[in-house]
Amino acid sequence: MPGGMCSLQPRPDGIRQKWEVGKSMVTKNRKINILGTVYDLEYKLHTSEDLENCSGYADYTKKMIAVRKTYPDDYSGDVDYVIRETLRHEILHAFLYESGLGDNWEHKSMGHEETLIDWFAIQYPKLRKIYQELECED
Ligand SMILES: [Zn+2]
Repeated sequence: MPGGMCSLQPRPDGIRQKWEVGKSMVTKNRKINILGTVYDLEYKLHTSEDLENCSGYADYTKKMIAVRKTYPDDYSGDVDYVIRETLRHEILHAFLYESGLGDNWEHKSMGHEETLIDWFAIQYPKLRKIYQELECED
């Protein structure tokens, strides 16, 4: 995807319960400040053409992040979980891009190292919890 990074395919892991659309996750479009640059956060339906093959993406040229807010009826994963993880993933892409780490990261032909992005997106809540418990978070 030009000017953006498409997140990995939604995964059927982390299964807790069947998704009911809009039940607990607030999926309201809003603006978010990424290191001083305003991005539009747009939650979209899984039927949106741009989210047909991925759960979300960050488009640095349009300064926007798109995240899927619905999944097909036969999806058995925990959609709230996937939305939260996707959002953290795409925000990290935007943070890296806006801090100057855009293309050619890790000498790839373009884009970021997805393993690292996923590692942060998944580990950050756990790290934050420990930092807060130990009161060592600035
Ligand atoms: Zn990604």
